[in-house]
Order: sequence, then structure tokens, then C-alpha cells
Amino acid sequence: MSTISLSRIHFPVTTLGPGNRIGIWMQGCSIRCPGCISADTWAAGRGQTTIEQVLLAMADWFPQADGVTISGGEPFDQPNALNELLRGIRTYTKADILVFSGYPFESISQPLEGMTGLIDALISDPYEVEAPQTKALRGSDNQRLHLFTLLGQNRLSSYERPIGSEDRRFDLMMGETGEVWMAGIPARDDFERLATVLNEQHHQVLTTQDRSIRGRSGNLND
Ligand code: SF4
Repeated sequence: MSTISLSRIHFPVTTLGPGNRIGIWMQGCSIRCPGCISADTWAAGRGQTTIEQVLLAMADWFPQADGVTISGGEPFDQPNALNELLRGIRTYTKADILVFSGYPFESISQPLEGMTGLIDALISDPYEVEAPQTKALRGSDNQRLHLFTLLGQNRLSSYERPIGSEDRRFDLMMGETGEVWMAGIPARDDFERLATVLNEQHHQVLTTQDRSIRGRSGNLND
């Protein structure tokens, strides 16, 4: 089986699609949107493992999972690994599969052809920090939701709606060294405000936001 660069996996994730989901964050992103909240996933080649190992690590989660969300990093920077991972996931579960990509839909049409039936829904296009943010499941309104399968339509068509109070949630995950990971779609200044509060309480806060502009952060190390 192929190798894959992976940032992390987690279950359950409840803020990146419907139900209790397996979250897979791939490592490496060549797009580098200004203000990205996940700049820690930009460097390629880190977190090398095999797809077999990833599937094994998720084996106990598959029977409980309502869906799988693959994000990053940029999944389509590793198209062969993504294809193989999707095929592996499909053999273990009938849960819906949602993939986030920062590439415009039109530019990934070729790899997508080889993934027909494997992805139920895709959110495409880069994060634009200056764009409005009014749509559910999207960090900026230029991002498009594509529903490829009947399962995708049934499970995710409801996300073609304005962002609501039910979307203002995060999953918190704590790592072995005390780092706190937050999954979800934050509003523009959510993490900046949280970091300010924690700094005022004399906590040392390091974040994973791209600092080329004032933006957001996705991971707080305290
Ligand atoms: S928002 Fe997504 S596509 Fe854009 S730089 Fe961050 S990880 Fe890459």
C-alpha cells in the first residue's frame, strides 16, 4: 500500500459535517491561503505512515461513525494516497465521506474522475480571509459545496444554508503533551479573542495561524 503524510486522525468529530465523524487531517499544503488556521499542516513530508496503518488505527471507529471528513493540509496534494485511502474507507464503512480541498473544483477534475463514487461531498476552493463568511461549513463564501452522490445529497444538502448558531461549536482534543486541538469552522476572530483572554490570564499561547496577516488560529498550546 502507498504511504501518506498525515497530520492527525480523531473520532468523534461533530463540527465538520453531520453526526459523529472520523476526522482525517492530511499533512502538506502547497496552496498556503493567507490567514489559514492550520499552517502547521503546510509542510510536506511530515507524519509519513502507510494507508494500511491509518485504516488499522480507525478500525474500531468505523462501526460507530456516521461519516468521515478528510481535510488538511491539502488532500489533493497527495492524490494517489487520497484515492487509495478513500477506497480503503469504502471497504470498511457505508458512512458518508466529505472532503475539503483548497483547490478550485475545475483544477482537480482529473484526479476527481478517478474517485467517482468514493467522495459523497466536496467543499472546494481556497480560504479567502477577506471574503464574507455567511455559509455553513465554509470558512469563506467563495467556497463551494458539491454533492456527488445520493448519500451526499441526503446527508449534506442541508449545509447549503446560512451559518447559524448551531454552527458556532468546536470539538476540543487534547494531545499527550498538553496541546489543545480545535476542530470546526471558526468565525474570523474567534481564536484571536480566545488567545487574548488566555494571554490576559498569563497563559502562554502559541497558535497555528498563518501570521502573514491578522487571522485566525486553530491550535492552542498552553
Ligand atoms: S485553508 Fe486549507 S487549502 Fe488553504 S492553506 Fe490552509 S490548509 Fe491549505
